[in-house]
Amino acid sequence: MIIDSHCHLNVFHQRGTLDDVLNQASMAGVTRMITIGTSSSDWLVYKGLAKDYPHRIYYSVGLHPGSVTDQWEAEVDQFERILKQGDSPMPIAIGEIGLDYFRLPKDKTKADQLIGWQQAAFARQLQIAKGCKLPIIIHSRSAFDDCVRMIDQSGVNWDRVVFHCFSEGANPMERINLRGGRGSFTGNITYEGEAFLNMQRALKEQGTEKLMFETDAPYLTPVPHKGSENSPALIVHTAEFAAKVLQMQVDELLPIVYKNTLNFFDIEE
Ligand SMILES: [Zn+2]
Repeated sequence: MIIDSHCHLNVFHQRGTLDDVLNQASMAGVTRMITIGTSSSDWLVYKGLAKDYPHRIYYSVGLHPGSVTDQWEAEVDQFERILKQGDSPMPIAIGEIGLDYFRLPKDKTKADQLIGWQQAAFARQLQIAKGCKLPIIIHSRSAFDDCVRMIDQSGVNWDRVVFHCFSEGANPMERINLRGGRGSFTGNITYEGEAFLNMQRALKEQGTEKLMFETDAPYLTPVPHKGSENSPALIVHTAEFAAKVLQMQVDELLPIVYKNTLNFFDIEE
């Protein structure tokens, strides 16, 4: 059994192809998936999917740094209400939240303003996560040091923190592992080039104890399907690739990763 720990099912839902995607996933052994919230445009959609597909689809709520605007406070208030209402199915994690300095406006004043909003939104969401004791899914792009610093300052339990789509090297992985945190790997680890080799080093650094896989579908399609749309079924290619890097059999690795993921997100077997 395989679980995709991070995907975005909205696009399939809107297109009416979700059942096909779920069937393909099942055929590949991917029996469960976590669809990750990014803004008020998807939180309630995902709550509905979790309700319609129990034990199959789980969901998280969070304001993605790429969705942060001057309206961030009103957005965060909205998902806090979903948490407070407490009616099932409840989100199983807070995320994805974090910082993204990769795509900032060219204008320095505007860029600084956006960074300010991102940091304020991140700090507030970390406090919400701390209050409700849910695991935290971090999106960090070109902002690793600031993410680590803000998580340290927030006082959240690092054991419940995952840096999704880990795209840094071995040393950054060591830094978060030492704190109790972890990184999860997506299809880009199968790509060619120095940046991606670095991810393989990070994978080896972390080892299997805290390892989780994800697709980040519909993005980051693994080789050999790179160039076409990603879907949870394709997580198998990432797992096979990672098993080779770790010099293990994929059949030996998958049950470990499955258990790690259920434990991390507190999902019943
Ligand atoms: Zn994502």
